[in-house]
Amino acid sequence: MSDTLHPSLADRIARLTGQHPFLCYQCGKCSAGCPVRAFTELAPNRVVRLVQLGFDKEALQAPSAWLCAGCMTCTTRCPKGFDLAGFMDCVRQIGRQENVPLPEKKIRRFHEAFLRQVERFGRAFELGLVAEYKMASGDLMQDVDMAPAMVLKGKLGFFPHRVNNPAAIRRLFQRVAEAERK
Ligand code: SF4
Ligand code: SF4
Repeated sequence: MSDTLHPSLADRIARLTGQHPFLCYQCGKCSAGCPVRAFTELAPNRVVRLVQLGFDKEALQAPSAWLCAGCMTCTTRCPKGFDLAGFMDCVRQIGRQENVPLPEKKIRRFHEAFLRQVERFGRAFELGLVAEYKMASGDLMQDVDMAPAMVLKGKLGFFPHRVNNPAAIRRLFQRVAEAERK
């Protein structure tokens, strides 16, 4: 049975992104090229379908949007010009705002740790992200065997790379927080 929120998630996404989910005609070309499709139960285009059919809570609770890497492959492949990456971003943001429960709590912890790193340095600082995530999740030993290879390949720097104007990024975060409080 449909469990639609009011206003519907489709309308909220349309308002926030400037594109209506009904634009998607379910050809599946996006999901065929999605690099994280193999790790998600629900293909990206199926998340759009849930929203089209009014299964709002189901769409928000699916881990698909949280696992989305934002690679834009789907967006560039879509024959309808639908920005699926932007759609996923919006679904994730609404889910975060409404504190929608997810089957896997660590997904949200990773996301929050990532956002805090970006707010602090203007871009992701991998070592800080890993440290913060591990403290929050309590899973201190997860993937530690990969660390030496990542350090050797320069994927895990010991110091953050800052953007030119980190204060501007922090202001963006403040404006979003203010908008979310309204
Ligand atoms: S490629 Fe575009 S139209 Fe096709 S299913 Fe994906 S989002 Fe929908
Ligand atoms: S942006 Fe997300 S949904 Fe789209 S192809 Fe990349 S990982 Fe998949």
